[in-house]
Amino acid sequence: MSHSAVSQAASLSVSTGNDRSLRRSIFKQNNSISFNSKSWASSLALNQRTTSIREAKRYTICMSVQQTSSSKVSVFPLELEDPKDPPLNLYKPKDSYTAKIVSVERAVGPNAPGETCHIVIDHDGNLPYWEGQSYGVIPPGENPKKPGAPHNVRLYSIASTRYGDFFDGKTASLCVRRAVYYDPETGKEDPSKNGICSNFLCDSKPGDKIQITGPSGKVMLLPENDPNATHIMIATGTGVAPYRGYLRRMFMENVPNFKFGGLAWLFLGVANTDSLLYDDEFTKYLKDHPENFRFDKALSREGEKNKRGGKMYVQDKIEDYSDEIFKLLDNGAHIYFCGLKGMMPGIQDTLKRVAEERGESWDLKLSQLRKNKQWHVEVY
Ligand code: FAD
Repeated sequence: MSHSAVSQAASLSVSTGNDRSLRRSIFKQNNSISFNSKSWASSLALNQRTTSIREAKRYTICMSVQQTSSSKVSVFPLELEDPKDPPLNLYKPKDSYTAKIVSVERAVGPNAPGETCHIVIDHDGNLPYWEGQSYGVIPPGENPKKPGAPHNVRLYSIASTRYGDFFDGKTASLCVRRAVYYDPETGKEDPSKNGICSNFLCDSKPGDKIQITGPSGKVMLLPENDPNATHIMIATGTGVAPYRGYLRRMFMENVPNFKFGGLAWLFLGVANTDSLLYDDEFTKYLKDHPENFRFDKALSREGEKNKRGGKMYVQDKIEDYSDEIFKLLDNGAHIYFCGLKGMMPGIQDTLKRVAEERGESWDLKLSQLRKNKQWHVEVY
């Protein structure tokens, strides 16, 4: 099943009086018509220079129009909406679930530093999860620190909705960056020290078995009690994974009990354009849901400079919009942070500075946000 477009045929009549220039301005020369953000094209050519007396007397132009709009994708089984609480730790390290790799695709362009893969895993409906949760993966082989014992579990944020990329509740997707080790002295890659689990995942092939635990985590769950809430989502790199799930649920899937009418604002920090993740999906939401979605990118290695002339990091984008962000937070917005641990000090410094400039105490504000459950952090 794919994200499809439907055509709707409709008949439209516009009263123009006898004013030919108005007729021309509404129906441009190419027989298309625009209202708000939507445009229609006529399926039959409209003859604006009609000489028919009967037509001219009607002072009304009728045209048959076709509107192309995006439809949301149906998902099943809808019973996945029923539980009141999220599934937690259905499978533990000593009793993990054997799932199967469906696909592994490089998710970044050729000029991205490093490799990130989008990995779809088939759990056949046995490992349900909610958006914002993580799976644990136990890579095959022996734990070098505990001979005879399996490797420790590595956690990965789930990048799909509970219905998975095939909308049938049977798969989960991960967004995994291959951990590569470069010797600080020689600058050369040392494969013996490459990350075990991320390399296992990025090298796996369709049909390969994979040991999964979880799902785990509650801190990044989407608070669903208010469908009109504001969600400010801040990510570096693979930290975008949970937001892909949120945004699919908000804008791509037709979930009868979750009709999103709020604002989702994504700040994504990566190195360059080739490192952007899921950019086509996000760009489409911008086009289809301009009132409900905002998307700001910080490309640190692409020449864009922050206010102080330095590289543009995600905290600099936050600073650019700090007034709006603070107002939204004051009005109850949720703010999420996901990605590398290193992103937090810079962001916290920025927020603290902005708060002080506004004459507010950041410490007080932060404790209030935490108390109100508006503050969601998952960094690694
Ligand atoms: P490990 O084998 O654990 O190695 C860790 C690092 O040490 C690597 O960089 C490796 O190169 C280096 N290293 C190995 N040997 C040496 C040595 N002798 N000397 C110096 N360095 C060495 N990651 C994602 O990619 N996507 C996600 O969505 C994601 N979500 C996460 C969610 C949570 C809640 C958490 C806690 C973590 C998440 N992670 C995610 C990180 C992930 O769990 C792993 O930590 C990451 O993939 C690295 O694991 P690894 O097995 O590949 O590396």
